[in-house]
Amino acid sequence: MNQAQIVLTLILLQQGLAVFAWWGAARLLRVSRVSALHWAAASAVITLTLVLYALIGLVPGVLAHGLSNAVVPLAFVLLRRGVQRFVRLRYTDLEHQALVLVSAVVIAAGWQAGAPESLPILVATAVPAWCLLRMAAESHAPLQAEFGTSAARVFGSAIGLLGLLFALRFVAGLAWPELAARPVGVDTPLNTLLVMSFMVIGLMLQMVLGLLVVMRLAQRLSHLSRHDSLTGLPNRRVMQDAITTARLRHLRRGTPYALLAVDVDHFKRVNDEHGHAVGDEALVHVARALRESLRSDDCVARMGGEEFCALLGDCDRDEALAHAERLRGAVAATPLRLADGRPLRLTVSVGVALAADAVEPRALLEQADGALYAAKDAGRNRVVLHAA
Ligand code: GH3
Ligand code: MG
Ligand code: MG
Repeated sequence: MNQAQIVLTLILLQQGLAVFAWWGAARLLRVSRVSALHWAAASAVITLTLVLYALIGLVPGVLAHGLSNAVVPLAFVLLRRGVQRFVRLRYTDLEHQALVLVSAVVIAAGWQAGAPESLPILVATAVPAWCLLRMAAESHAPLQAEFGTSAARVFGSAIGLLGLLFALRFVAGLAWPELAARPVGVDTPLNTLLVMSFMVIGLMLQMVLGLLVVMRLAQRLSHLSRHDSLTGLPNRRVMQDAITTARLRHLRRGTPYALLAVDVDHFKRVNDEHGHAVGDEALVHVARALRESLRSDDCVARMGGEEFCALLGDCDRDEALAHAERLRGAVAATPLRLADGRPLRLTVSVGVALAADAVEPRALLEQADGALYAAKDAGRNRVVLHAA
């Protein structure tokens, strides 16, 4: 085995492991399943190419040279399709089908017509270069939006570099066909350098794809730890952070803020009369009504059970009471439609505490809760302001 062949064998092992890893990821992970399957399939095709290639001399030339090069475009189309799925871009399937079909036809026709041996290699370098460079360009904006500029740049550079390498080999093949006709396994210093670069960048590509999946997983976990799974609203922890931030702004600049403690009235009855599933639906309904009746920069959280909390930034006493009243009115005015079409009327009681009343976030929450209990005592479906 010469040096180039040793490296090609390492690439074969690397791609074989990638098939296993992506297939495992698709089965085990709850995110990016379809992309992982695409990447497993892409690596499987590359493994097949390298196996066919390693069998030069043992299998008919049409398989070793023709088929091995003809399936390369399929691998890169699969790779790109997986990335398109990952970043939620529309599949460019017409283009993909054309690339795979035209490549196969050109290679087959060339073989029939006795075209130079460099032809399949030209096809098997042009299509990957095209797919990789297009992939680097089209995924930049969505990756930047989701993971930030650095992550988008790292991914774009790895993919772009690999694309350029293929493009370079394509151009070299056009300029010096006798060079391109030399399969990469033939031991020349250039080929050794080429396959080594393919190995390093291929490895980098797999790592970058893996990193993207891990980053998305981490974001999902972080979201889960800060949001309520039933209503999708932020949870108590987010609300506490938001109050701390509002308090700092209040201390520094005197910006007023208000806290609303909201509790669904007689919610136990809803569960008892209609079942827990309807109770859950009612909570989602109330959560939506609260969210929609407040400003988009106000924080609305589910504190637990049928208790919610809203933090109104830059809001004085009158505005806070007006918001609270609007919120109460919105819930009372929009009943939940049950499966049989009947309306289920829901109401909430609201306790209001103003930032000026207390400084400590916990004390403020307690004041809002105290006002909420006063609203319950006064007959429910009403707003009560904490009396300083
Ligand atoms: P009040 O007007 O005094 O607030 O009366 P209430 O019935 O709303 O208050 P209570 O605290 O007695 O009952 C709250 C009920 O909320 C009891 C509990 O089973 C129900 N609950 C808490 N979390 C959930 C949930 O996630 N889903 C459903 N369906 N019910 C829940
Ligand atoms: Mg209640
Ligand atoms: Mg309660």
